[in-house]
Order: sequence, then structure tokens, then C-alpha cells
Amino acid sequence: MAKIYLDYAATTPVDPQVLQIMLPYFSTVFGNPSSIHNFGQEADHALDEARTTTARLLNCRKEEIVFTSCGTESDNLALRGVAFAQLKSRGLKHILISPVEHHAVSHTAEQLKEVFGFDLEYLDVDEYGIVKPDELESRIRSDTALVSVIYANNEIGSINPISEIGKICREKGVPFHSDAVQAGAHLRIDVQKDRLDLLSLGGHKMYGPKGVGALYVRAGVPMLPSQTGGKQEGGLRAGTQNLPLIVGFSEALRIANIDLDERSIRLSKLRDRLIDGVLRNIPGSRLTGHPVQRLPNHASFVFEGADGNYLLTLLDIAGFACSSGSACKVGNPQPSEVLEALGLSRTWALGSLRITLGKDSTEEIVDQLLEKLPALVQKARRKI
Ligand SMILES: *Cc1c(COP(=O)(O)O)cnc(C)c1O
Repeated sequence: MAKIYLDYAATTPVDPQVLQIMLPYFSTVFGNPSSIHNFGQEADHALDEARTTTARLLNCRKEEIVFTSCGTESDNLALRGVAFAQLKSRGLKHILISPVEHHAVSHTAEQLKEVFGFDLEYLDVDEYGIVKPDELESRIRSDTALVSVIYANNEIGSINPISEIGKICREKGVPFHSDAVQAGAHLRIDVQKDRLDLLSLGGHKMYGPKGVGALYVRAGVPMLPSQTGGKQEGGLRAGTQNLPLIVGFSEALRIANIDLDERSIRLSKLRDRLIDGVLRNIPGSRLTGHPVQRLPNHASFVFEGADGNYLLTLLDIAGFACSSGSACKVGNPQPSEVLEALGLSRTWALGSLRITLGKDSTEEIVDQLLEKLPALVQKARRKI
């Protein structure tokens, strides 16, 4: 049976055009961008082009782009880099993050608290997992070192009011970071308009290669490198750049922005067909995340009394590759922190399903899934 991939939020296949553009940098153009000779200059030129393209798409200067090894590293560098710099220069120790962050942010913040004594606090979210700007404003203190709020959530698809949050943070003079790893492929990001100080992106969630990411760091933001060594990446990320992957990253971001609006319309129609079909045909089902203010390719649900992990297995056997939305532990399942933050009880939160669409998703595929899903949810309920 044909296997159908419906987990584009977990990762995407590399676009053939992206793959092509990367290939010479594994072989013929192999120089170290830091070398003086012609081999190095050639590599440095390609690196500069990738940086210029990335900066143009985000509306910043190329000196403000730091290439990293993945979205996770971008988040780590943003949080640790700013927290350490703020502590060192001004003694600031207060960190504010949302309760719906990816673990790359939340576990980094928890470590800053546990090991380095930072005062970590979580913001409130509404029933859709969206941060409330007014509440954020009242929570910022004179010793706040950093605010981090996810751009669009990986588990529930909700999009945060980033430009409102950015405006508040800028007025208060607090550096604002956003994890846009899920947003990169689907939303037009303008770091000036959003008044962002730091923004994380990852290659493999937007039809680029795995193992590469980028961090926008606004000029003047206090920042220490979290990986020390050479002077690469403006001194913020030591290590010889992985040129083939960086070239692939910038090409993926460029392609994502070409037909972004058309793709967004096509995907959101499919998404809404899926959401309507599930909510209409499956009793005891709920959409998680915001019905409108959500990623165009993202549908996520909870089914009361269902075993989410078992449902994923049943779907896989039926030929559909989906996700629960979080890294769910088999054996002793715990409701995800994100679903808990929405106020969902255990009987609902353990029955989560995330279906994320992509370039090969069609109406026929959505309809096939809608035909199979009700019986599979029933089966996943009986098991409990
Ligand atoms: C996937 C993801 C990450 C991690 O990115 P990697 O490139 O896989 O390290 C971080 N944040 C969000 C929101 C993600 O979806």
C-alpha cells in the first residue's frame, strides 16, 4: 500500500532544486571560507550570497544573520547568548517565556534556571495557546533579561501576535526572541515590522536540508557566543561553516517565499476540509489551537478517551504517517506540556493527533484519511 506522508511539521523532503544547488559545495567548491587563497574566496563568496539572500528575505542586514547547525542550536544560542550577556553586563536574571515553547527553548531556559540561577517565569496563554500581549506587558520587570515567544506552535499550529509583543518589548527595552522554525515555510517574516531582536529558523522544516539553521541577531543586542573558538559568524558561532547546507538553507527560504501566498491559500483550504470533516464525523473530537490564526498546513485534534500513541500505530498500518504533535513517551504516556497549558484534562490530552500537510498533499488524500479515521479513533478508544 502507498504510504502517505502527513507529518510535514516533523520534517520535509529536500526540494530537488535545493539539492541541485547544494551539490557543487560538497565537491568542487570545497574551500574553507576563512582561507585567504582563491579556494577560500570562492567559498566565502557563496557564503556571502547565502547570507545576503537570507537577510533580504527577513528584512535585515547580512551581518545580522548567524548560520547554525539547526533550529535547536539557534534557540540555544539566542537564549543562552543573551542571558549570559545580560547577566554579565547588567546583572539581569529574569527570563519570560511562553508555556507553549518547543523544548529547544523551554529546556534551555530550564537549564539557565537550574544551573545558572536565572529567575524563569512562564506567561499565560489563552485556550488556543496564544500569548496575551497585555499580560506580557504587566509581567516585564526592570530586571527582565529576555522574552521568548514561539512564532507559530509546532503542536497546535497557533500563531502568536508577534508584532504586538515585539512592540511592547522594544518599548520596554527588553530583547525579544521568537522561534520561527515552524513559521519559516508558511509565513512572511519581517523582523523590522515585528520588532524582533532574535529569530530562529531551521532548514529541514521548509524543504531544505537537515543540520542547518539560522539566527537573526539584531545589531546591538547583548550577546555572548555559546560555542567558542574561531571568529566565524561575527564571533557568535565558532566553527567552519557547513557551506553546502547553508547554501541549501538560503535557497529553501528563497523558494518558500516565492509562491508563499498561493501555497498558503491552497493548503489552508485543504486544512479546513480536514478540520471540518474530522469535527463533523468524529464524536468527542476537538480542534486544538486557534481555528483561524493557525499555520495554513496544520490541523491538530484531541479525541476524548483515545490512546494517541495507539492511534498513530493504527494510522501507520493504514498507510498514513501522522504525529501526536509532541515527542510522546511510549509506556508511561504523559500529556504534553502544550496541551496541559490549554487546560485540557488527561483523558483528552492523551488522545492527540497532528496532521500537517505539504506539497504532495491533495484533496483525495484528505478524503481518504477522513474515510478511515473515524473507525480508527473508535478502535483507539476501546483499547483504554
Ligand atoms: C523542529 C523545531 C525545532 C528544532 O529544529 P531542528 O532543526 O530540528 O533542531 C525548534 N523549534 C520548533 C518550533 C520546531 O518545530
